[in-house]
Amino acid sequence: MLREILTEREIRALPKVEFHRHLDGSVRFDTILDIAKSHNIDLGSRDPAELKRKTRITTPMKDLDTVLKTFWTTQKVLASYESIRRITFENVEDGYYDGVVLLELRFAPVFIAHNKDVGYDEILEGVIDGVSLGMERYPLQVGIILIVPRAFDPGLSRDALDTALKYKNSIHRNGDRLCGFDLADAEERTDPAAFTGLVEHARKHGLGITVHTGENTSADHVRRALSAYKPDRIGHGIRIRDDDDLVRTVIEEKIHLEISPYSNYLTRSVPSLEEHPLPYLYRKGVPVSINSDDPCLMDIDLVHEYQICQQVFNLRREDFLRINRDSVSFSFLPEDIQDYIMKHHFSRG
Ligand SMILES: [Zn+2]
Repeated sequence: MLREILTEREIRALPKVEFHRHLDGSVRFDTILDIAKSHNIDLGSRDPAELKRKTRITTPMKDLDTVLKTFWTTQKVLASYESIRRITFENVEDGYYDGVVLLELRFAPVFIAHNKDVGYDEILEGVIDGVSLGMERYPLQVGIILIVPRAFDPGLSRDALDTALKYKNSIHRNGDRLCGFDLADAEERTDPAAFTGLVEHARKHGLGITVHTGENTSADHVRRALSAYKPDRIGHGIRIRDDDDLVRTVIEEKIHLEISPYSNYLTRSVPSLEEHPLPYLYRKGVPVSINSDDPCLMDIDLVHEYQICQQVFNLRREDFLRINRDSVSFSFLPEDIQDYIMKHHFSRG
């Protein structure tokens, strides 16, 4: 059978599951300018061309840490309930136009609040209400993942997590969309044991667990993260490619990898797209999804990632359908929402 090449339009129309999209890496450039103006925020420059350079990454950077630094300019505009609600709504809208039918958005309250006059309640309400607005306007299902950045004091994150759980268990509309917990950044500089209490607290309160590991770090770091946290999913995890036993473990224990090819290229976590391990891991049977990570910051959209998968990894329509259909059960959203997505977008009928 001829393996048909999909056009951009056909790729856009494919029903997609996206698990790994950072709110603060997905702020439209016009929105950054607009909020800076309305909130009187100093971004260090008024020149749009220079600001674009400060908030966008288009060529591979020195390393992951250099990339993480570019978040700080965008972080400034997550400055109030209104701006956070708007940015969240636009994330849902962008996801819809990428063909996403099941979207999980993630954000770190301690990072957003840092050095600013915005509290955890405003942040949580802004995100939850932005998701509500997005789901009112567009037919997709959205979950919310709380990130604990390892570079910050775990005590601050405990307060953020407790605030999030308060909303999850309240009557606040769509508060129950808070369904996941993630650890991000600074993997090499921190002791895994410093975060096990937070992870257990999150799991005990019904949150699904994902962890950034094995992005720019080794397969051993992934092993350590698996034993410390027993996550349901892994952010990136591409370095398991170096360890056949670990690949087998991930397959046997059904641990899902959230993979973002172009992000891995820009952070130099892979030497080239041609050497990206996604096609190898997928063909071995590792559960994977295709994700945009920080689409606006990296000047891409999710369709761009699928184009890479098609052109560089030789994945085709049947692969995309299988990857997305198989991803649904790894969602942190409840089973009735997963069933709804399967029935409406992935039934073979
Ligand atoms: Zn990430």
